[in-house]
Amino acid sequence: MVNKPVLLIVDDVPANIQILASCLKDKYQIKVASDGFRCLELVASQSEPDLILLDIEMPGMNGYEVCRELKKNSLTKDIPVIFVTANDQEADEEKGLQLGAVDYITKPIRPSIVAARVNTHITLKQQRDQLLSMATHDQLTGLYNRHYLFHSAHKKIARSIRHDIPMSIAMLDIDHFKFINDQHGHPTGDVVLQSVAALLEKYSREEDCVVRFGGEEFIILFDHSARHDAQKKSEELRKLIEQLKPEGLLVTVSMGVIELNQESDSIEEMIKRADEALYLAKASGRNRVVVA
Ligand code: GH3
Ligand code: MG
Ligand code: MG
Ligand code: MG
Repeated sequence: MVNKPVLLIVDDVPANIQILASCLKDKYQIKVASDGFRCLELVASQSEPDLILLDIEMPGMNGYEVCRELKKNSLTKDIPVIFVTANDQEADEEKGLQLGAVDYITKPIRPSIVAARVNTHITLKQQRDQLLSMATHDQLTGLYNRHYLFHSAHKKIARSIRHDIPMSIAMLDIDHFKFINDQHGHPTGDVVLQSVAALLEKYSREEDCVVRFGGEEFIILFDHSARHDAQKKSEELRKLIEQLKPEGLLVTVSMGVIELNQESDSIEEMIKRADEALYLAKASGRNRVVVA
């Protein structure tokens, strides 16, 4: 079963939370916070809710301030916020919407209207999440795609340079893959790609990034890894793939590994150097790792 979307209800009056929760609890998983600080704490410490229903008048930190904080943070800025408030002046509503809320509902609430509005914004959020996921992932293997690599690598490289942390990448290419397609058919080739991708995903660490770069080429970004460390991991992956035998076929890969040069590297430059190392791995017999 698909998990219910998560709503966070923020209000200092328990009775208000009760009313909202009772009309939404069938379709949504409900979390509650009784003040603004608790709301920000919950959002930071747990996985983000799909939508926040936010009261404005609360002691300590009011709803406007909470909304402003949420919108400032890149991790929380896309969570849709709906104000639910007794403040029914036009200027209040205008302020709430200008702060980035997607909707503004005044109390006393009408449960069916609240449910309908929440439903609309949850649907929009889910559609946006799905589009984002499609734009950053490869359809066949489910790995990240090249678009995501370039987008995320710039940030990772900048961070590695700033904190003087080593980082390496491996470019991996399946050996004689055209032969597998020619001998066993394209659908079998697809299964081989999926199996290799699943193995790379399974044996990489959470902070590493595995990307399908092109047809039968993959890039692994090894975070916090110097050259020898990346070489060791690449060698392990190469051996695991050799033992994998997807569809009963012996599949091997060649890999080119390089470490980030903090003085001069960009992701484009790193890929170019990894590709040169990969070329050497191919030229010297395949099924091997070459470190530049
Ligand atoms: P090498 O060892 O030099 O890398 O040889 P190779 O045969 O692996 O390299 P080549 O570049 O000649 O062939 C790659 C093949 O990968 C050609 C292309 O049809 C196939 N390919 C690319 N994308 C896909 C895909 O999504 N599915 C399948 N089944 N094949 C694909
Ligand atoms: Mg209140
Ligand atoms: Mg290739
Ligand atoms: Mg190949």
